[in-house]
Amino acid sequence: MKYLIVVLVAVIVGWIALRNRERRPPPRRPGAGAARAQTIVACSHCGVHVPLADAVQGPAGPFCSEAHRLAHAKQERAR
Ligand SMILES: [Zn+2]
Repeated sequence: MKYLIVVLVAVIVGWIALRNRERRPPPRRPGAGAARAQTIVACSHCGVHVPLADAVQGPAGPFCSEAHRLAHAKQERAR
C-alpha cells in the first residue's frame, strides 16, 4: 500500500510536468527577427520613409509612389 501511494504521487507529478511542458511556446530562434528586418529609404520628393522593397526607383533616387516620382520629374523639368 505504501508503494502504491509513492507510485501514484510520481505519476501525478510526471503528468503535471508533462502538461506544463506542452503549454510552453516554442523557443524563438536567434536571428529570426533580424531576417525580417527591412532597409528603409526616404522618398526623394516628400521625405517619407518607406521600405526599399515598396519604393519606386527613379533617376533621382527612391520614391514613396509613382505619383511622387512623376511629380519630382515634373518639378525638375520646371527648373
Ligand atoms: Zn513621397
